This record gives sequence, structure tokens and C-alpha cells, in this order.
Amino acid sequence: METTNTTQIEGTTKPNGKVGAVVIVGGGIAGMQAALDVANSGFKVYLVEKNPSIGGNMAQLDKTFPTNDCSTCMISPKLIEVAKHPNIEILSHSEIHGITGEPGNFKVKVKKKARYVDESICTGCGTCVDNCPVQYRPYFEQSADEKIEAQRKGKEESQSTNGTGE
Ligand code: SF4
Repeated sequence: METTNTTQIEGTTKPNGKVGAVVIVGGGIAGMQAALDVANSGFKVYLVEKNPSIGGNMAQLDKTFPTNDCSTCMISPKLIEVAKHPNIEILSHSEIHGITGEPGNFKVKVKKKARYVDESICTGCGTCVDNCPVQYRPYFEQSADEKIEAQRKGKEESQSTNGTGE
């Protein structure tokens, strides 16, 4: 479901007019590594991911081809590193809704979809999931068709709730 909640990302402007912040779109393994590389070089990073959590397709895999390495063993340390990095802010369940500006000084508008919980105090205990009257299969187990259908339903519910068509 979507809300009209949008966030405008702006970094600190430096004397040369450039901004010391970077937006990376996509929180898969490539986006996470890019975020770590950029954040470790001293930039503030906003990691924007449309899905409810970062990790991407690799988080759904058991093994990787052709080395047969354990996928979780490779991605888990990066998930923790990204989540704890002081220079990285994760904007999950969010999408880019506009970019203006010029190289070195962009303004990015990000639309955060509703989670209906206060993320700052949620402990992830799962009690609300157990008692929720709406049941979907876990996100990673859904087929592409099911995900599209779930997103369509969410959008319809959002439109009927706020009447904005957003
Ligand atoms: S019931 Fe638990 S998981 Fe659900 S919102 Fe509250 S703290 Fe978070």
C-alpha cells in the first residue's frame, strides 16, 4: 500500500556547490556493496529499496552458481554491515518519485509506502503478524504474479482509503 508520504533527500552542500550525499537505488547485493564502498569513503548514503527489506534476489537463494557457495553466508554479513553503518540510511519499501538538479547537486523525492507500524519502536516480535486478519504468503515465497496481484490490491485499498488516487 502506498501513502502520500514523501521525503525530500538533500545532503550537506559543500563550498564547491556539490553535495556530500549519494542515493543508491536498489538494495540487492550490488546496491549493498556499492553503498558500503561509498559510505566507507566518507559519503552519506541513502539506500532506496522498493521491497520491504534489502537483500534482493540473492537473499532468496540457497546456493550460487557456479561455485555452489552458500548464498546466506555471503549476504548475511553485508546485511548487518549495511544496517549498522553510520553513513548508510536504508529507505526500504520506498520508491523514487522525482529527481531534479544537476550533477553534484541533485534533489531526490522518495515515496515511502505505509507499514502501519512505528518502525522506531517495533521490536519485530511478530505478534501483529499472528493476529492479522489479512494473510499473504511470505514475500519471498510469492510468485511474480502473486506479487503483482498483492501490489495491485494494496494500491486499490490505498486509493479507496485516502481518495487521492495515489
Ligand atoms: S506486534 Fe511486534 S512486530 Fe508487530 S508492530 Fe508491534 S512490536 Fe512490531
